[in-house]
Amino acid sequence: MAAARDTGVDGLLVTHLPDVRYLCGFTGSYAALVLAGGRPVLFTDGRYTAQAKAEAQGTRVVIAKKPAVIAACEWIEAAGVRRCGFDAAHTTVAALETMRKAVSTKVRRGLFVAAGSLVARLREVKDAEEIERMRRGALMGCGLFDHMLTYLEPGLTEVAVAAELEHAARLAGAEAMSFETIVASGERSALPHGRATTAKLPRRGFVTLDFGVMLDGYCSDMTRTVHLGKAMDGEREVYDFVLEAQEAAVAAVAPGVTAGEVDEAARSVLRRAGLDKYFSHSTGHGVGLEIHEGPRIATKQTQVLEQGMVITIEPGVYMPGRFGLRIEDMVLVTGTSGEILTPSVKAWIEL
Ligand code: ZN
Ligand code: ZN
Repeated sequence: MAAARDTGVDGLLVTHLPDVRYLCGFTGSYAALVLAGGRPVLFTDGRYTAQAKAEAQGTRVVIAKKPAVIAACEWIEAAGVRRCGFDAAHTTVAALETMRKAVSTKVRRGLFVAAGSLVARLREVKDAEEIERMRRGALMGCGLFDHMLTYLEPGLTEVAVAAELEHAARLAGAEAMSFETIVASGERSALPHGRATTAKLPRRGFVTLDFGVMLDGYCSDMTRTVHLGKAMDGEREVYDFVLEAQEAAVAAVAPGVTAGEVDEAARSVLRRAGLDKYFSHSTGHGVGLEIHEGPRIATKQTQVLEQGMVITIEPGVYMPGRFGLRIEDMVLVTGTSGEILTPSVKAWIEL
């Protein structure tokens, strides 16, 4: 709430579920949380009576008979809040209309103010418990990659590879995958976000696996690219440049460094190799309760890295019609540098 007051609001309506979970611990799929001094108030419905009371410690729970956001807005008016912040990035035009209609016309004007993503900023820096959870998820990902090394072979379909990986993840205890598993093989490896298809793994060529598990609510995210059969023209050289770029960016991670400087560390290696035109996305992103969070690790980003942030470093090169590859680690910003949370082997692997 202190961070909210700095922006001139005396109340905050939180409806983005990962933010609700972060602030009060409630993991249900339907909620609105109000912060307005005193105890936070969580609005949800009858499906979550027991769960909300068990999870949302230190929070008043209201089981609403009407939509939670309407009940929350009525409470906000009754509590005398004058300026209530909401997260514009996660509030639809229709939801804002619903919020306005829930309060009387005399307070409607000026009550709800777009407050930016205040909670998202708080979530960027992880505490010790969050880091512990993320370490475990990241290590589970590494174990899954080791398993996949024993499974991959020419002729398997990409969807079969994804199915094997996801099956193994669930058996290992994952609550879910953190995003749709990417398996991109052969010429399809040139697609930065090639979701798994019925294409068959080639006898010779790259296979890129980009995947993550969700554990205790937190996402993991890693990418490895391996080669089936012997390398062909230029593949090994390009791989080594991407690896060099990735390691340069990891080495650049430290508190006080800007996100743009980390991006540039990777990009400059590929530029020297004449490959930067094939590196078509940013170098990385924050990760936590959601797979994509702040900070963005991208060109010219001035945001300064802080101890406790967990980011990905994932440069790639994609040559349309030929091949592509990416290497991605999760990296914790420590007091002095960056610590890799996904220590799977990154050297060239030929299967
Ligand atoms: Zn990824
Ligand atoms: Zn990523």
